[in-house]
Amino acid sequence: MSMQTKFQLDEDMIPKRWYNIQADLPSPMDPYYSPQTKKPATPEELHQIFPMALIGQEVSQERYIDIPEEVREIFRLYRPSPLYRAHRLEAHLKTPAKIYFKYEGVSPPGSHKPNTAVPQAYYNMKEGIKRIATETGAGQWGSALAFATCLFGMKCTVYMVRSSFYQKPYRKSMMQTWGAECIPSPSERTQTGKAMLARDPETPGSLGIAISEAVEDAATHKDTNYSLGSVLNHVCMHQTIIGLEAMEQLKQAGDEPDILIGCVGGGSNFAGLSFPYLGEKIKGKRPDIRAIAVEPSSCPTLTKGIYAYDYGDTAGIGPIAKMYTLGHDFVPPAIHAGGLRYHGDSPILSRLVHEKVMEAVAVHQTEVFQAAVTFARTEGIIMAPETAHAVKTVIDEALRCRETQEEKVILFNLSGHGNLDLGAYDDYFEGKLSDFEYPDSKIKESLKTLPKIG
Ligand SMILES: *Cc1c(COP(=O)(O)O)cnc(C)c1O
Repeated sequence: MSMQTKFQLDEDMIPKRWYNIQADLPSPMDPYYSPQTKKPATPEELHQIFPMALIGQEVSQERYIDIPEEVREIFRLYRPSPLYRAHRLEAHLKTPAKIYFKYEGVSPPGSHKPNTAVPQAYYNMKEGIKRIATETGAGQWGSALAFATCLFGMKCTVYMVRSSFYQKPYRKSMMQTWGAECIPSPSERTQTGKAMLARDPETPGSLGIAISEAVEDAATHKDTNYSLGSVLNHVCMHQTIIGLEAMEQLKQAGDEPDILIGCVGGGSNFAGLSFPYLGEKIKGKRPDIRAIAVEPSSCPTLTKGIYAYDYGDTAGIGPIAKMYTLGHDFVPPAIHAGGLRYHGDSPILSRLVHEKVMEAVAVHQTEVFQAAVTFARTEGIIMAPETAHAVKTVIDEALRCRETQEEKVILFNLSGHGNLDLGAYDDYFEGKLSDFEYPDSKIKESLKTLPKIG
């Protein structure tokens, strides 16, 4: 039996094009709606805050879209990312399953997010934009965009969810090092922020609020655009380089995956790993492949939300999308996986769950940290708390294989390292983490405020 552990590709194997799963869906995606007119959003409306190139990608029906050479040159700093076989975890679990993982923690900011931050900064720069405003939860997206804008000589303003701003100060340090400005949200910078602070001066903030602030900043400054690190179709498409590389690497390993697993906040990293495979599943080429999206029980969008049109942000100024949602004024508890606290989800990923092409499960944060520690003690990598949700399910599936003695091939995305999240690990070891199941009554409450569309 081969003990090969790392499967690497040469730099010239960095994908030359992204895969757009929209081309393979049986019918087009439902359009975005404008919060002002409650009619389908026009490209002109979206152009207030997004560059035309990305608006085009958002609705493109082309199966492949070329990656600009300037973007691939930056990808050379950390791509292709390695694929690993987790031999030691397999042995520890005594499972006949084979466990592979794609490691996205090798990028300078430490997660998969630069895969979309770099092209987004590039297209904005090409269209004459000087500054990008954005939100960040745990700080991963803010640091990725700070890194990307820095390499293209642009400015960057990051509204960081207040609870994370104080929990994860070193993410702010990274953003500053790359020249970005990082502000706790809600802030006094925007009308939305001021209104939120007036309503509740102690608010921990939420991704929805921070998005509203960044969108408002972009909409009120001509040289400034807005950028989103997850959820949107073009973001999911940019991440498909993860799955496209993994396909080549698994070929090297001589295996085909039976089960794909990833954590889901807005859906981008798991879309990136799974969409190239699920495109084939839709076309009947991999009928039996399973894809499992893993989310926190405290923010159970896919497992307890409803599939409906909702605002992407709390103040309801950004586009309205059809997706699984917990309601746009949902404020989740301040769990440690800050990057998984969004009330909605990628419209494409939502649709694939709704149409049962993919599955979704929710897990609790203490079992999640336990899984992350098991992984660190067998495979070495200390992962981000977000990623740990995926690993909890990987371990569950591998143990199921032990019971059934099935030699399934499991592939998961290790979306980022946790070297700046060690405070969360400390809290786990000190027994300070509690599990929180979001009450159904509260979800029903926030679902009352959904916009009426169609
Ligand atoms: C942001 C983030 C996530 C969640 O976002 P998705 O869009 O669902 O991928 C997961 N893992 C890490 C490391 C992140 O930084």
